[in-house]
Amino acid sequence: MKHQGIGMTSQRTRNRLIERLREGGIQDPRVLDVLRQTPRHVFMDEAMASRAYEDTALPIGHGQTISQPFIVARMTEVLLDQPTPPSKVLEIGTGSGYQTAVLAQLVDQVYTVERISQLLNQARQRLQSLQLTNMQYRMGDGYQGWEKQAPFDAIIVTAAPETLPKELLQQLTVGGRMVIPVGQPLQQRLMLIVRQEEGFSEQALDWVSFVPMIKGQAS
Ligand code: SAH
Repeated sequence: MKHQGIGMTSQRTRNRLIERLREGGIQDPRVLDVLRQTPRHVFMDEAMASRAYEDTALPIGHGQTISQPFIVARMTEVLLDQPTPPSKVLEIGTGSGYQTAVLAQLVDQVYTVERISQLLNQARQRLQSLQLTNMQYRMGDGYQGWEKQAPFDAIIVTAAPETLPKELLQQLTVGGRMVIPVGQPLQQRLMLIVRQEEGFSEQALDWVSFVPMIKGQAS
């Protein structure tokens, strides 16, 4: 059976990963619980699956990566850090669907956008196999966001643009927060942007390394 060997050992390795995240400074128990429960190995090819509970980004094909668990936890924690947790969340860069799965267990609705159709379809199947249904998928250019469904209480971007995408900012509710890596390839700054009654506040968080956010839809 697929992934059976991993299934048998994974609880221990998953618990070890959660301990590592906690030691690294992740505090929100909701986030730690969801990461503990989410089978990351389901979101990668079998050849890579034995490494699923290492705290590293790993290749998922098409030159893309599944994000590092610590960064997934950190970004999710930052989005949830408000008196009323966000209900409607936009995710740019579905990739493997792992971050989507984490979010879907913590908020009401996730709207996720990906520019590579094979990745989007594969993510959809994997999320369905876990019986997660509170998400909508869109194939397209994340720089445009998802105008029809806007505004969003939160936006998470898991690929790195060189500058803040203006269109996306406009799709936040007042009080809504966006977490996004911004900068040059290889090294970017994770930014927290909060929409105010007038304008936006910006806060620089960790240094991170995401794949670049690319303009336009892939063929
Ligand atoms: N959260 C994902 C990260 C995947 S890597 C995971 O953990 O698996 C980033 C993803 O962003 C890639 O799949 C890439 O194709 C996608 N991406 C890059 N530029 C994009 C854009 N302009 N619009 C939508 N998706 C984009």
